[in-house]
Amino acid sequence: MESSLPTHAKDNPNVSADGAPSKNALKKAQKEAEKAAKKAAAKKADEEKRAAQQAQTSEDTAKDKYGELPQEEGPIITHLKKLGEDHVDKEVTVIARIHNSRSQSAKLAFLMLRQQGKTVQAVVAANGEAVSRQMVKWAVSLSVNSFVRVTGLIKKPDPPVASASISNLELHVTKIYLLARAAEQLPMQVKDAERPPPATAEEGQVDAEGAPIVTLKTRLDNRVIDLQTECNQAIFTISDAVEGLFTEYMRKSGSRQFNTPKILGAATEGGSGVFEVSNYFGKSGFLAQSPQLYKQMLIAADCESVFEVGPVFRAENSNTHRHLCEFTGLDFEMVFDHHYHEVLGFAEQLIVFIIQELQARYKDEIAVVHRYFPRAGDFRIKDGKALRLKYFDGIKILRDAGVDTTEQDNYVTDLTTAQEKRLGQLIREKYDTDFYVLDEFPMVVRPFYTKQHPTDPKLSNSYDFFMRGEEIMSGAQRINDAAELEASMRSKGLDPDAEGFVDYVNAFRQGCRPHAGGGLGLNRIVMFFLGLDNVRQATPFPRDPQRLRP
Ligand code: ATP
Ligand code: MG
Repeated sequence: MESSLPTHAKDNPNVSADGAPSKNALKKAQKEAEKAAKKAAAKKADEEKRAAQQAQTSEDTAKDKYGELPQEEGPIITHLKKLGEDHVDKEVTVIARIHNSRSQSAKLAFLMLRQQGKTVQAVVAANGEAVSRQMVKWAVSLSVNSFVRVTGLIKKPDPPVASASISNLELHVTKIYLLARAAEQLPMQVKDAERPPPATAEEGQVDAEGAPIVTLKTRLDNRVIDLQTECNQAIFTISDAVEGLFTEYMRKSGSRQFNTPKILGAATEGGSGVFEVSNYFGKSGFLAQSPQLYKQMLIAADCESVFEVGPVFRAENSNTHRHLCEFTGLDFEMVFDHHYHEVLGFAEQLIVFIIQELQARYKDEIAVVHRYFPRAGDFRIKDGKALRLKYFDGIKILRDAGVDTTEQDNYVTDLTTAQEKRLGQLIREKYDTDFYVLDEFPMVVRPFYTKQHPTDPKLSNSYDFFMRGEEIMSGAQRINDAAELEASMRSKGLDPDAEGFVDYVNAFRQGCRPHAGGGLGLNRIVMFFLGLDNVRQATPFPRDPQRLRP
């Protein structure tokens, strides 16, 4: 190393007159030399450390092909449901959850990827430089349900991957990045919810293989996880389709969609089943039990044909498989030219249309749901037509089969749920259909706005629709004359001058065309069409007397 001593001593105070360094200068030079040596040593150590680090990372030839997701422009993301044979030997990028993962060896791992219930197998195989062992190790370390963005080549596995819903294709991973991490401990696993619904409602049970049995309650408590199953994804595709087909059919007929108020000033259809809103600016309000009165007021307002899709609130403490406190109503109301059977026929064709279109357009989804709910089988409509019977013909079928129908014969009560179901079975056996209609119900079991039968005052121009033996719709011709309406209300103990009714009754004072309509329950249509066990399975976040969350 070069000396730091000055070479020209002439003007230098650190140099003596004879040119030799002074004592002070020597000391300083020594100190500086020591400092320089120290600095050099530190630099060397630093260089060595960096070299070692570099040596270590350079062993991972794939280090930029996995890890936390970098923010960068990238290739087009393919949806799993769009993957097909034409993708074979092509590179695709998908965003999916890790359904489960399995490490075969240090060099090979399998990930099951899941997107909206569909699954496909991804293979992470260390192969020279492109995919490293570290990459394989990292991929299997990711927690189940985490979202990853994966790029890879699509191959045809031989044999097909039986456990994947897309069994004929496989993704050979070249890049994998973490998009969103799932917690290590989830309250419920999607794969457990993916098993058929258990017969037991008891919590904490395990099945023969030791896997936890998840009850409906556990599923509903953890609905955000539960909704991720293939079956639930299919159920809500069907539910959306029913709503869409209803709207399509109504619009095609020239009907207009309306949204009527859900907060009302009075409990209109009987007080027991209504939720009170206690703080409506110092007054009480009530949640609508149906859009009935408003649909009819729209008819009185020359709207001719109206429909609505909206929430319906029922404060009934009914803890059954088919009752909710809030459900989605598909309602319609329309004028007719001659006879209410024009509207009844229209409504029958509406249901036939919905069912036939579901069966034509949603084969895959229906097949998925039937894997989990196989009991009911495909929905049957004989000859593409509704079977229409008179109410008392239905009672006769029951009576002939040995069912006690004394109360119905004497106009005391409506059909019970058990009788409805039995009638459904008998009709299926006799007529080979899952959809039937009963017409001309007794007046006593129908609401005040129902039009009386023209010749038999004990009957009414009203109808119920049934799918697999359970009610999905009630409807009727409505009273369109104010005086007749007032009389009907009084006969049922209601006051037409009460605050909740005056506007409604007044709507008919200026003349209103004869009309009829009906109210369908979306959740029930989905439930019975698919053969689910419980209306809650057809409701994303059900509300019942026990449940107000999630
Ligand atoms: P149910 O006899 O089954 O209690 P309802 O006769 O009281 O039904 P309506 O007032 O006629 O029911 O309502 C019209 C439609 O709305 C029903 O046919 C059904 O599809 C649906 N619906 C009624 N109540 C409920 C509920 N609590 N939960 C889910 N859907 C319902
Ligand atoms: Mg009803």
